Amino acid sequence: MAHKARKRFGQNFLIDQQVISEIIEYIHPLSEDRIVEIGPGLGALTKPLISKLNHLNVIELDRDIVAHLKSELPANKLTIYAADAMKFDFSKLGKNLRIVGNLPYNISTPLLFYLSDFSALIQDIHVMLQKEVVDRMVANPSTTDYGRLSVMLQYRFDMERLLTVSAESFRPMPKVQSAIVCMTPLHHRTQIVLDETLFSRIVAAAFSQRRKTLRNTLSAFLKQEDFQHLSIDSQLRAENLTVEQFIKVSNHITVRQNTIHR
Ligand code: SAH
Repeated sequence: MAHKARKRFGQNFLIDQQVISEIIEYIHPLSEDRIVEIGPGLGALTKPLISKLNHLNVIELDRDIVAHLKSELPANKLTIYAADAMKFDFSKLGKNLRIVGNLPYNISTPLLFYLSDFSALIQDIHVMLQKEVVDRMVANPSTTDYGRLSVMLQYRFDMERLLTVSAESFRPMPKVQSAIVCMTPLHHRTQIVLDETLFSRIVAAAFSQRRKTLRNTLSAFLKQEDFQHLSIDSQLRAENLTVEQFIKVSNHITVRQNTIHR
């Protein structure tokens, strides 16, 4: 089929067979796995996945592509959801989900946050994203790439960059380099966040002005005595705090509030 790539759906189709094989090897699909592919497009990953699986679920927004997939691929092995992945109720697919996809870059970060809400049902996620986004996701503290995205995702997932993919591997070619990242939900985190809304507000406030000290950016939340109690230097910046320290800050405030109101 001559499909004209639609920019508004973030369509950049993978054409490099070498890259496709490497991605499939990283995913290592086993016949019984419950895999969900987001944005199958013309089937670059879908076809090799189906050949290894008993069954595959795909979610695709573009109706022309849905029609094309229906005509090309065996209906008994494939369930196609013609839907927006950002509104899709993943819980209806069961547990131990393995999410894969060469994601539309225009919605990649909100989609990762959306998927975070289903992390209890997810075994792992293998996705292709803009390299620059992957750099920020896996960044360590005290580096320029470390920021809100790093903290909010590292709190929930163990993340590993697997492969950098050049623009030439796609048609049409994107303007940027891409990378594959594997995300595994931390189902047994030792340190849990007591109030996730508060945690997210604190991380956002701390990084709202990267160059300012925590004393400034977190002044609405922490007084000098709180910093002392937490053994955190108020002259540090957000980028110097580990994920564990952000959790400690957030939980300290939750506990303090509960004590005051009792
Ligand atoms: N996986 C294919 C296509 C990647 S392009 C390949 O590697 O070649 C991204 C795909 O995501 C396109 O098929 C696009 O139509 C689809 N898409 C875009 N936005 C989407 C959304 N919100 N939900 C589901 N699919 C979406």
